[in-house]
Amino acid sequence: MKRQLNKIKVRILPALLCALTFAGCGFGHAASGEDGVTKEIFAMDTYMSLTAYGDTAGEAVGKAADKIHELDRMLSTGNEKSEVSVLNREGTVRFSDEAMKILLKSLDISDMTGGAFNPAVYPVMELWGFPSGSYRVPDRDEITAALDNINIQGIVISGSKVTAAEGMKLDFGGIAKGYASSAIMQVFEQYGVTSGIVSLGGNVQTLGTKPDGSLWRTAVRHPEDEGYIGVVNVQDKAVITSGGYERFFEEDGIRYHHIIDPSTGAPARSGLVSVTIISTDGALADGLSTALFIMGEDGAVSFWREHTGLFDFIIMDETGKIMVSEGIADAFESEYDYEIVRR
Ligand code: ADP
Ligand code: MG
Repeated sequence: MKRQLNKIKVRILPALLCALTFAGCGFGHAASGEDGVTKEIFAMDTYMSLTAYGDTAGEAVGKAADKIHELDRMLSTGNEKSEVSVLNREGTVRFSDEAMKILLKSLDISDMTGGAFNPAVYPVMELWGFPSGSYRVPDRDEITAALDNINIQGIVISGSKVTAAEGMKLDFGGIAKGYASSAIMQVFEQYGVTSGIVSLGGNVQTLGTKPDGSLWRTAVRHPEDEGYIGVVNVQDKAVITSGGYERFFEEDGIRYHHIIDPSTGAPARSGLVSVTIISTDGALADGLSTALFIMGEDGAVSFWREHTGLFDFIIMDETGKIMVSEGIADAFESEYDYEIVRR
């Protein structure tokens, strides 16, 4: 029996984390200034802003946009022709080299996070109505049944052929934007660009420094207020945030967001409201932002201590406490109090 929804509220925030160096987080078309060229596009269900500096900037951002659209066509669960959709529909498909790379990276991150990151969580996302927008709170039995279909052991790879067990569906939504921002950095480099910044729905990645040699100032959005948790000064880094405030619905005053804890089949309730990962590896940063959000404070901190060389974090819990890992502390500025987490 379907439960009646008394109150449904849906909010999708387009740009969650804006590079302060941008003229806001608006959406428009290509614009150039100070040797910089910015191209704004809509892809992967979000607004994106791509900026490069130097003589080849125009060409580079054009190719970067092409790359994003190519990845979107490959990965989108909403596009029935995408490699992922074919796999989800037919149970088997030959992946392109790049789709395979993304799958292997996802499985790696799943492994290292003890399954908190799970690229096969899509059947549970569907149950809660996130892909379709027909949001609902499922029954316990439905959740139990869906959880039978998210075991990544059911994915078999043989050469380029990928086969998934019956009932399984993959979704790279937890890693795609971070993978894409890293791919853009490579495109920029191929065109000789040494200074650039992209924001893919608020997830930022930077190449080099600003043209004047100073660091990129990247703001981390506050989950509740209009303002920012703080600003992090970086170069050659991705700054990627997961938050329960990004995409959610409400029923009977309870908020249900889009980050699913694979151990419960429900939106993660870990006590964290925002997790930002800073890393040179965009795909890793994206995957870990999702995973550490699910792990909660203690899990996130001990995970970081085991992988200090790989990334840093800025996390906020539901009481408003902000914690920043040691490696990024000197680069972080905030009007709020924050704790530095030591190795
Ligand atoms: P966003 O994509 O809004 O920036 P995230 O990076 O946290 O936020 O990714 C959330 C997306 O990841 C969801 O929309 C869904 O597609 C996917 N997802 C949800 N839960 C998980 C999970 N436990 N592991 C991997 N991917 C997940
Ligand atoms: Mg993520």
